[in-house]
Amino acid sequence: MAVRDITVQGHRALHQRTKKVKEVTPEVRTLVADMFDTMAAAEGVGLAANQVGVRLRIFVFDCPRPGQENARGVVINPVLERLGTPTPLDEEEDGEGCLSVPGEWFPLARFPQARVTGTDLEGNEIVLEGEDLFARCLQHETDHLDGYLYVDRLTGPWKSEAREASKDRGWADTGITKWDPSTTKAEDV
Ligand code: ZN
Repeated sequence: MAVRDITVQGHRALHQRTKKVKEVTPEVRTLVADMFDTMAAAEGVGLAANQVGVRLRIFVFDCPRPGQENARGVVINPVLERLGTPTPLDEEEDGEGCLSVPGEWFPLARFPQARVTGTDLEGNEIVLEGEDLFARCLQHETDHLDGYLYVDRLTGPWKSEAREASKDRGWADTGITKWDPSTTKAEDV
């Protein structure tokens, strides 16, 4: 198992749809193990395969839930259902961040509940249901696999603020396309 580099906004793998996993090969198992290590090193609550540069429809998560233990696991070929009625944006409550937009936070309204269906590494069907932060995490990670970053969904002034931040930090256009969470902190990328 190993910590892999995390792709940064502008890296091609983040802006393309990922491909369905047809078979859980030894390479896929290694990838998933490395994704757990990488997520832990980066202190993230979720990580999609294209965030380590692999265009496969897989994400891992380790997401805090109030009053319960963390929701933790892997989903192969996830399909998302957004549930409930989106509430108006709350700047304080709706902050969202991403290891591929490291060290930045912007408010984004999400659906309050979400359900993801998919399979685990053994091919068993799994259903994940979440609300609040976990619902946000499920929506955020499936967005990644569809080729979208949360900053692509920002509205109002945050859209341009996020664009400015990306420019200021020298991502994409000056060649910073990935970072190593075993040696670097997100805010220093
Ligand atoms: Zn992300």
